[in-house]
Amino acid sequence: MEMNLEAFILGCGGMMPLPHRHLTSMLVRREGDLFLFDAGEGTQVSLRRLNLRWKKINAIFISHTHADHVTGLPGLLMLSSQVDRDEPLYIYGPPKIAEYVESSRRVLDMYINYDIIVKEIQAPAVCYEGDGFRIRAFPLRHTKTCYGYALEEDMRPGAFHPERAAERGVPRGPLWSRLQAGQTVQSVDGMDVKPEDVLGSPRSGRKVSYITDSLYFPEVAAEVSGSDLLVCEGMFERELLPSAVEKKHMAAFQAATIARDAGGVKKLALIHYSPRYTDHDLRILLDEARQVFPETVLSKDRLRFPIDNVD
Ligand SMILES: [Zn+2]
Ligand SMILES: [Zn+2]
Repeated sequence: MEMNLEAFILGCGGMMPLPHRHLTSMLVRREGDLFLFDAGEGTQVSLRRLNLRWKKINAIFISHTHADHVTGLPGLLMLSSQVDRDEPLYIYGPPKIAEYVESSRRVLDMYINYDIIVKEIQAPAVCYEGDGFRIRAFPLRHTKTCYGYALEEDMRPGAFHPERAAERGVPRGPLWSRLQAGQTVQSVDGMDVKPEDVLGSPRSGRKVSYITDSLYFPEVAAEVSGSDLLVCEGMFERELLPSAVEKKHMAAFQAATIARDAGGVKKLALIHYSPRYTDHDLRILLDEARQVFPETVLSKDRLRFPIDNVD
C-alpha cells in the first residue's frame, strides 16, 4: 500500500526572518507521522497557517545550534502541550541541543505535559527508525557542528506483472496479493509460483534530503543520491562565492552541483536565502542553479512537495 509522503517548506530564509519570509524549516509528513527539520523564530506561525495537526510532531531534527535554526523551538514545545499525547517527542541534533532545550525549559518555567527525549548526535548514523523508513544524519561543514538529514524508505518489491501470473496459471484474486507480498503460491495445476517469477527487480524507496548550512564539499553528494526531493541551501549568487566560503555557506550553483553529482536526484529545492535578496532577486539564484541542474525550483514558505512513487 502506498504511504502518503510530502514535504512542506515552513520557511526559506537564512539569518533573520523577513516580513514575508520565515526562517529555514521543513516539515515532512509520512502518513500520520510528522517530522520537523529545524525550528527558527516564527516556525510555529508557518505551521499554524498550514493548518496541519502539527502539535503532534513525532520528532524534531536540528541541523545546528545557530539562532536562526533553533529559536522557534521553545514556543513549539510549549504549544505542543495543548494536545494529549502518549508518545514522547524526540529531538535530535548536534552537541549543545540538550543543554539548549533543558535550559529553555528551566528558565522559561515551561509547562510540558509529555516526555521530551533529546538525543545528541555524536557521529553520523541512522538516528530514527520508523515502520518502513529511517532518518539518517550526515556531517556538513559549517562554523559549528552541523548535520544534514535524509529520510529514506525501505526498498520496495518490484512491479507486479499480471500477465506473468496468468501465464503460470495463477488466477486473479487473493493469490496475486500473496505473490506481491513476497509469498510463494500454487498454480491451478499444483506448481509452485515464486514472487520473483512475477515481480520485476526490487525498487528503491522514496527519499527526502535536507542540507543547510554548509560549505560546499563534493563528498556530500553521495549522502543524497537518489533523492526524490533534495532541499539544499542556496544562500548566495556565484559572484558572492568568496563571502559564502568565508561564512561557510553555499552558493545556489553549488547546491545544484550536489544535486547533479549525487545521481538520481529528481528535484532540487533551494532554501536558506540571504536576506539581501528580495523575492524578485531570487531569480538570479534560480537561474544560476538551473544552468547546472535544470530540475531546480525555489522553495517558498508553505510550499508543498508531494513525493509520489512514479516507477
Ligand atoms: Zn542558518
Ligand atoms: Zn548556521
